[in-house]
Amino acid sequence: MLSPLIAGDEKACFAVTEPTTGLDTTKLKTMAVRQGDRYIVHGQKVWISTAQVAHKMLLLARTTPLEDVTNPTEGLSLFYTDLDRDFVDVREIEKMGRKAVDSNEVFIDGLPIPAEDLIGEEGKGFRQILYGLNPERILVAGECIGIARNALTRAAQYANERVVFNRPIGQNQGVQHPLARAWARVEAVNLMVMHAAALYDSGEACGVEANAAKLLAADAAVEATEAAQMAFGRFGYAKEYHVERLVREALLFRIVPVTPQMLLSFIAEKALGLPKSY
Ligand SMILES: Cc1cc2nc3c(=O)[nH]c(=O)nc-3n(C[C@H](O)[C@H](O)[C@H](O)COP(=O)(O)OP(=O)(O)OC[C@H]3O[C@@H](n4cnc5c(N)ncnc54)[C@H](O)[C@@H]3O)c2cc1C
Repeated sequence: MLSPLIAGDEKACFAVTEPTTGLDTTKLKTMAVRQGDRYIVHGQKVWISTAQVAHKMLLLARTTPLEDVTNPTEGLSLFYTDLDRDFVDVREIEKMGRKAVDSNEVFIDGLPIPAEDLIGEEGKGFRQILYGLNPERILVAGECIGIARNALTRAAQYANERVVFNRPIGQNQGVQHPLARAWARVEAVNLMVMHAAALYDSGEACGVEANAAKLLAADAAVEATEAAQMAFGRFGYAKEYHVERLVREALLFRIVPVTPQMLLSFIAEKALGLPKSY
């Protein structure tokens, strides 16, 4: 599976989210029904990145109906299979940012999946995807740090060059301080991101740190990009200077791959021992 992906010969998308099922993943409705040596899949996914160009799909679907399992996390299965467009209709969603990556509605109508495309054990798919969630959060947090640093670098350069009232605008504390505060926050948050990454790399538990890193990094990126946009004044609104794009990209990472409410609920439960709230 991995070699063609790494070589760039195949592209893959990750299909979990559904129109009626968002963060409450165990309620997803896409069904894969075993028929002999294959499964037949019917269902609908939404917000699936890169499905326009993907050859393969990592698909989470229910193989045992929710009412037949004792624990709702059971009965979901993970498949890595061909995205066969004879059975899968992909429709692009217009969105605010991240224009380089297509986002899609995906309609699956009778897709046959060979039984050997099942990953691991049937019914254990939910636990399998959990392994990928912490590194994804750390990766996204790192991306937020990059966006924030890029915005602050651009803003500092502009604030040094742009002269108003006979001096560079960056000589005014009203312009300096929001940028300096954002810089301090970004660099502090980066320590949490690196801490989470180091735990993950050494094979230790990193759920709380990964969730905290993603929460803090997205907020820091929003603050930094907004401060940068304001330093640019009128040009903060112009595409040419890129900061308006960075504002939009930072906002995305507050929502994906998981929202601040869910991150805070997880931290409250796992770090502080408070009752599970969702
Ligand atoms: C650009 C983009 C790309 C994406 N790519 C993919 C992809 O490739 N594959 C994929 O599977 N998905 C993808 N997604 C989906 C994304 O992972 C989800 O949108 C995200 O997890 C948020 O889920 P939701 O919008 O369904 O939230 P919902 O579950 O609909 O929740 C709506 C809001 O209510 C809040 N909420 C719900 N319950 C509670 C509660 N108990 N307490 C407090 N707040 C609550 C949530 O935090 C959220 O703010 C993508 C989304 C976007 C925007």
